[in-house]
Amino acid sequence: MNNEDEARRRDADEPGHRHLFHLPPADGGRYPEAAYLAGNSLGLQPRATRDELFADLDAWRRLGVEGHLEAERPWLPYHELLTAPAARLVGARPAEVVVMNSLTVNLHLLMVSFYRPAGARTRILIEDAAFPSDSYAVRSQARFHGLDPDTTVVRLRPRPGEDVLRTTDVLDLLAAEGETVALVLLGGVNYLTGELMDIPAITAAGRAAGAVVGWDLAHAAGNVPLALHDWDVDFAAWCSYKYLNSGPGALSGVFVHERHLGDPALPRFEGWWSTEAATRFEMTPVSRPPATAEAWQVSNPPIFAMGPVRTSLELFDAVGMPALRGRSVRLTGYLEKLLDEVSAARPLTVVTPRDPARRGAQLSVRIGAGSAAGLAKRLRYEHGVIADAREPDIVRFAPVPLYCTYHDCWRVADALAATVEVSA
Ligand SMILES: *Cc1c(COP(=O)(O)O)cnc(C)c1O
Repeated sequence: MNNEDEARRRDADEPGHRHLFHLPPADGGRYPEAAYLAGNSLGLQPRATRDELFADLDAWRRLGVEGHLEAERPWLPYHELLTAPAARLVGARPAEVVVMNSLTVNLHLLMVSFYRPAGARTRILIEDAAFPSDSYAVRSQARFHGLDPDTTVVRLRPRPGEDVLRTTDVLDLLAAEGETVALVLLGGVNYLTGELMDIPAITAAGRAAGAVVGWDLAHAAGNVPLALHDWDVDFAAWCSYKYLNSGPGALSGVFVHERHLGDPALPRFEGWWSTEAATRFEMTPVSRPPATAEAWQVSNPPIFAMGPVRTSLELFDAVGMPALRGRSVRLTGYLEKLLDEVSAARPLTVVTPRDPARRGAQLSVRIGAGSAAGLAKRLRYEHGVIADAREPDIVRFAPVPLYCTYHDCWRVADALAATVEVSA
């Protein structure tokens, strides 16, 4: 069996940023803190978040309405503080990014502009293992346009007997049937399998076929390096509560490529925050949208939701995605090695791609017997290991590089070895 001391030694050699986060206590097992491997589902709270949030609450207490202009971080332009760091995180220009609303709401607002079925070009390409919210969103968009969702939404499936999509299969489909595709909307990192899609290749193929290409980056933002502008992505959206550690239901980021900014032909759902800030309070009946992603804003934003995002983005700026990705690859590779040792004699299979270039900080394990939820429960209450179960048979482990350790990875393997029976 692998060696706990070795994991400890790795942590001593390569300290992460765990001290900047609150770790939940363990519900069982030998260690006081949980081994938290569920940051792909909900990231942990940075220690700096609480003060940030309270400072904004205090400004409201002291200033009332005057806080719009007089708060230390005035509310009217508050969202602008998030734009540059969010743009750096996803490889965008500041004009291409805005932080607002929640993820699925933003997908709808973006599809109003970018899903425009016409003639034979009506179909929407998603992955069969898409997050349900994305499935519901595209199906409802098809219905909104008077189309049959069953024939309009094309679901990409892995080949029989395989767990993840092959890029070539996606490219082949776009080459063969691209003229019927209006929109490609895929998860950058699949929530279930942890597969990192080849975003630049699929974007290029989709656009060459005449389709609009959007990405749901819920599991990619803050997890893998992104270069949305250079990759020519049409649009993207992501939430801030998974790898971005900004709290449950945290705000979503939106990217719209520069080439679409200021295009008067694009339809959009607007509100008073869609108009340019300089003339917003002239309260004119007709909007004057700026030539930035802010034109997709609708309402004035929830200020208390913004401090946590700001705190988190500052952390990502301070650590830097290249350093974070390096540690992520090492931690995930270490967990993979330990999982392989445990799986050798047990009905467990890692379904996430083996190539580090095709995944982020998540390994999904298929269990051959029993329920995923039952296993996750035992890991939590008997070993203090928090992981995320997706019924019927997937348990997801995300060694998030900001706050997870090599010892956490060791605890996962140790807990699985103790919990899952050796195959007969
Ligand atoms: C987490 C996640 C969502 C959640 O959507 P909300 O609108 O934030 O509730 C949607 N899509 C994907 C792919 C996700 O991973």
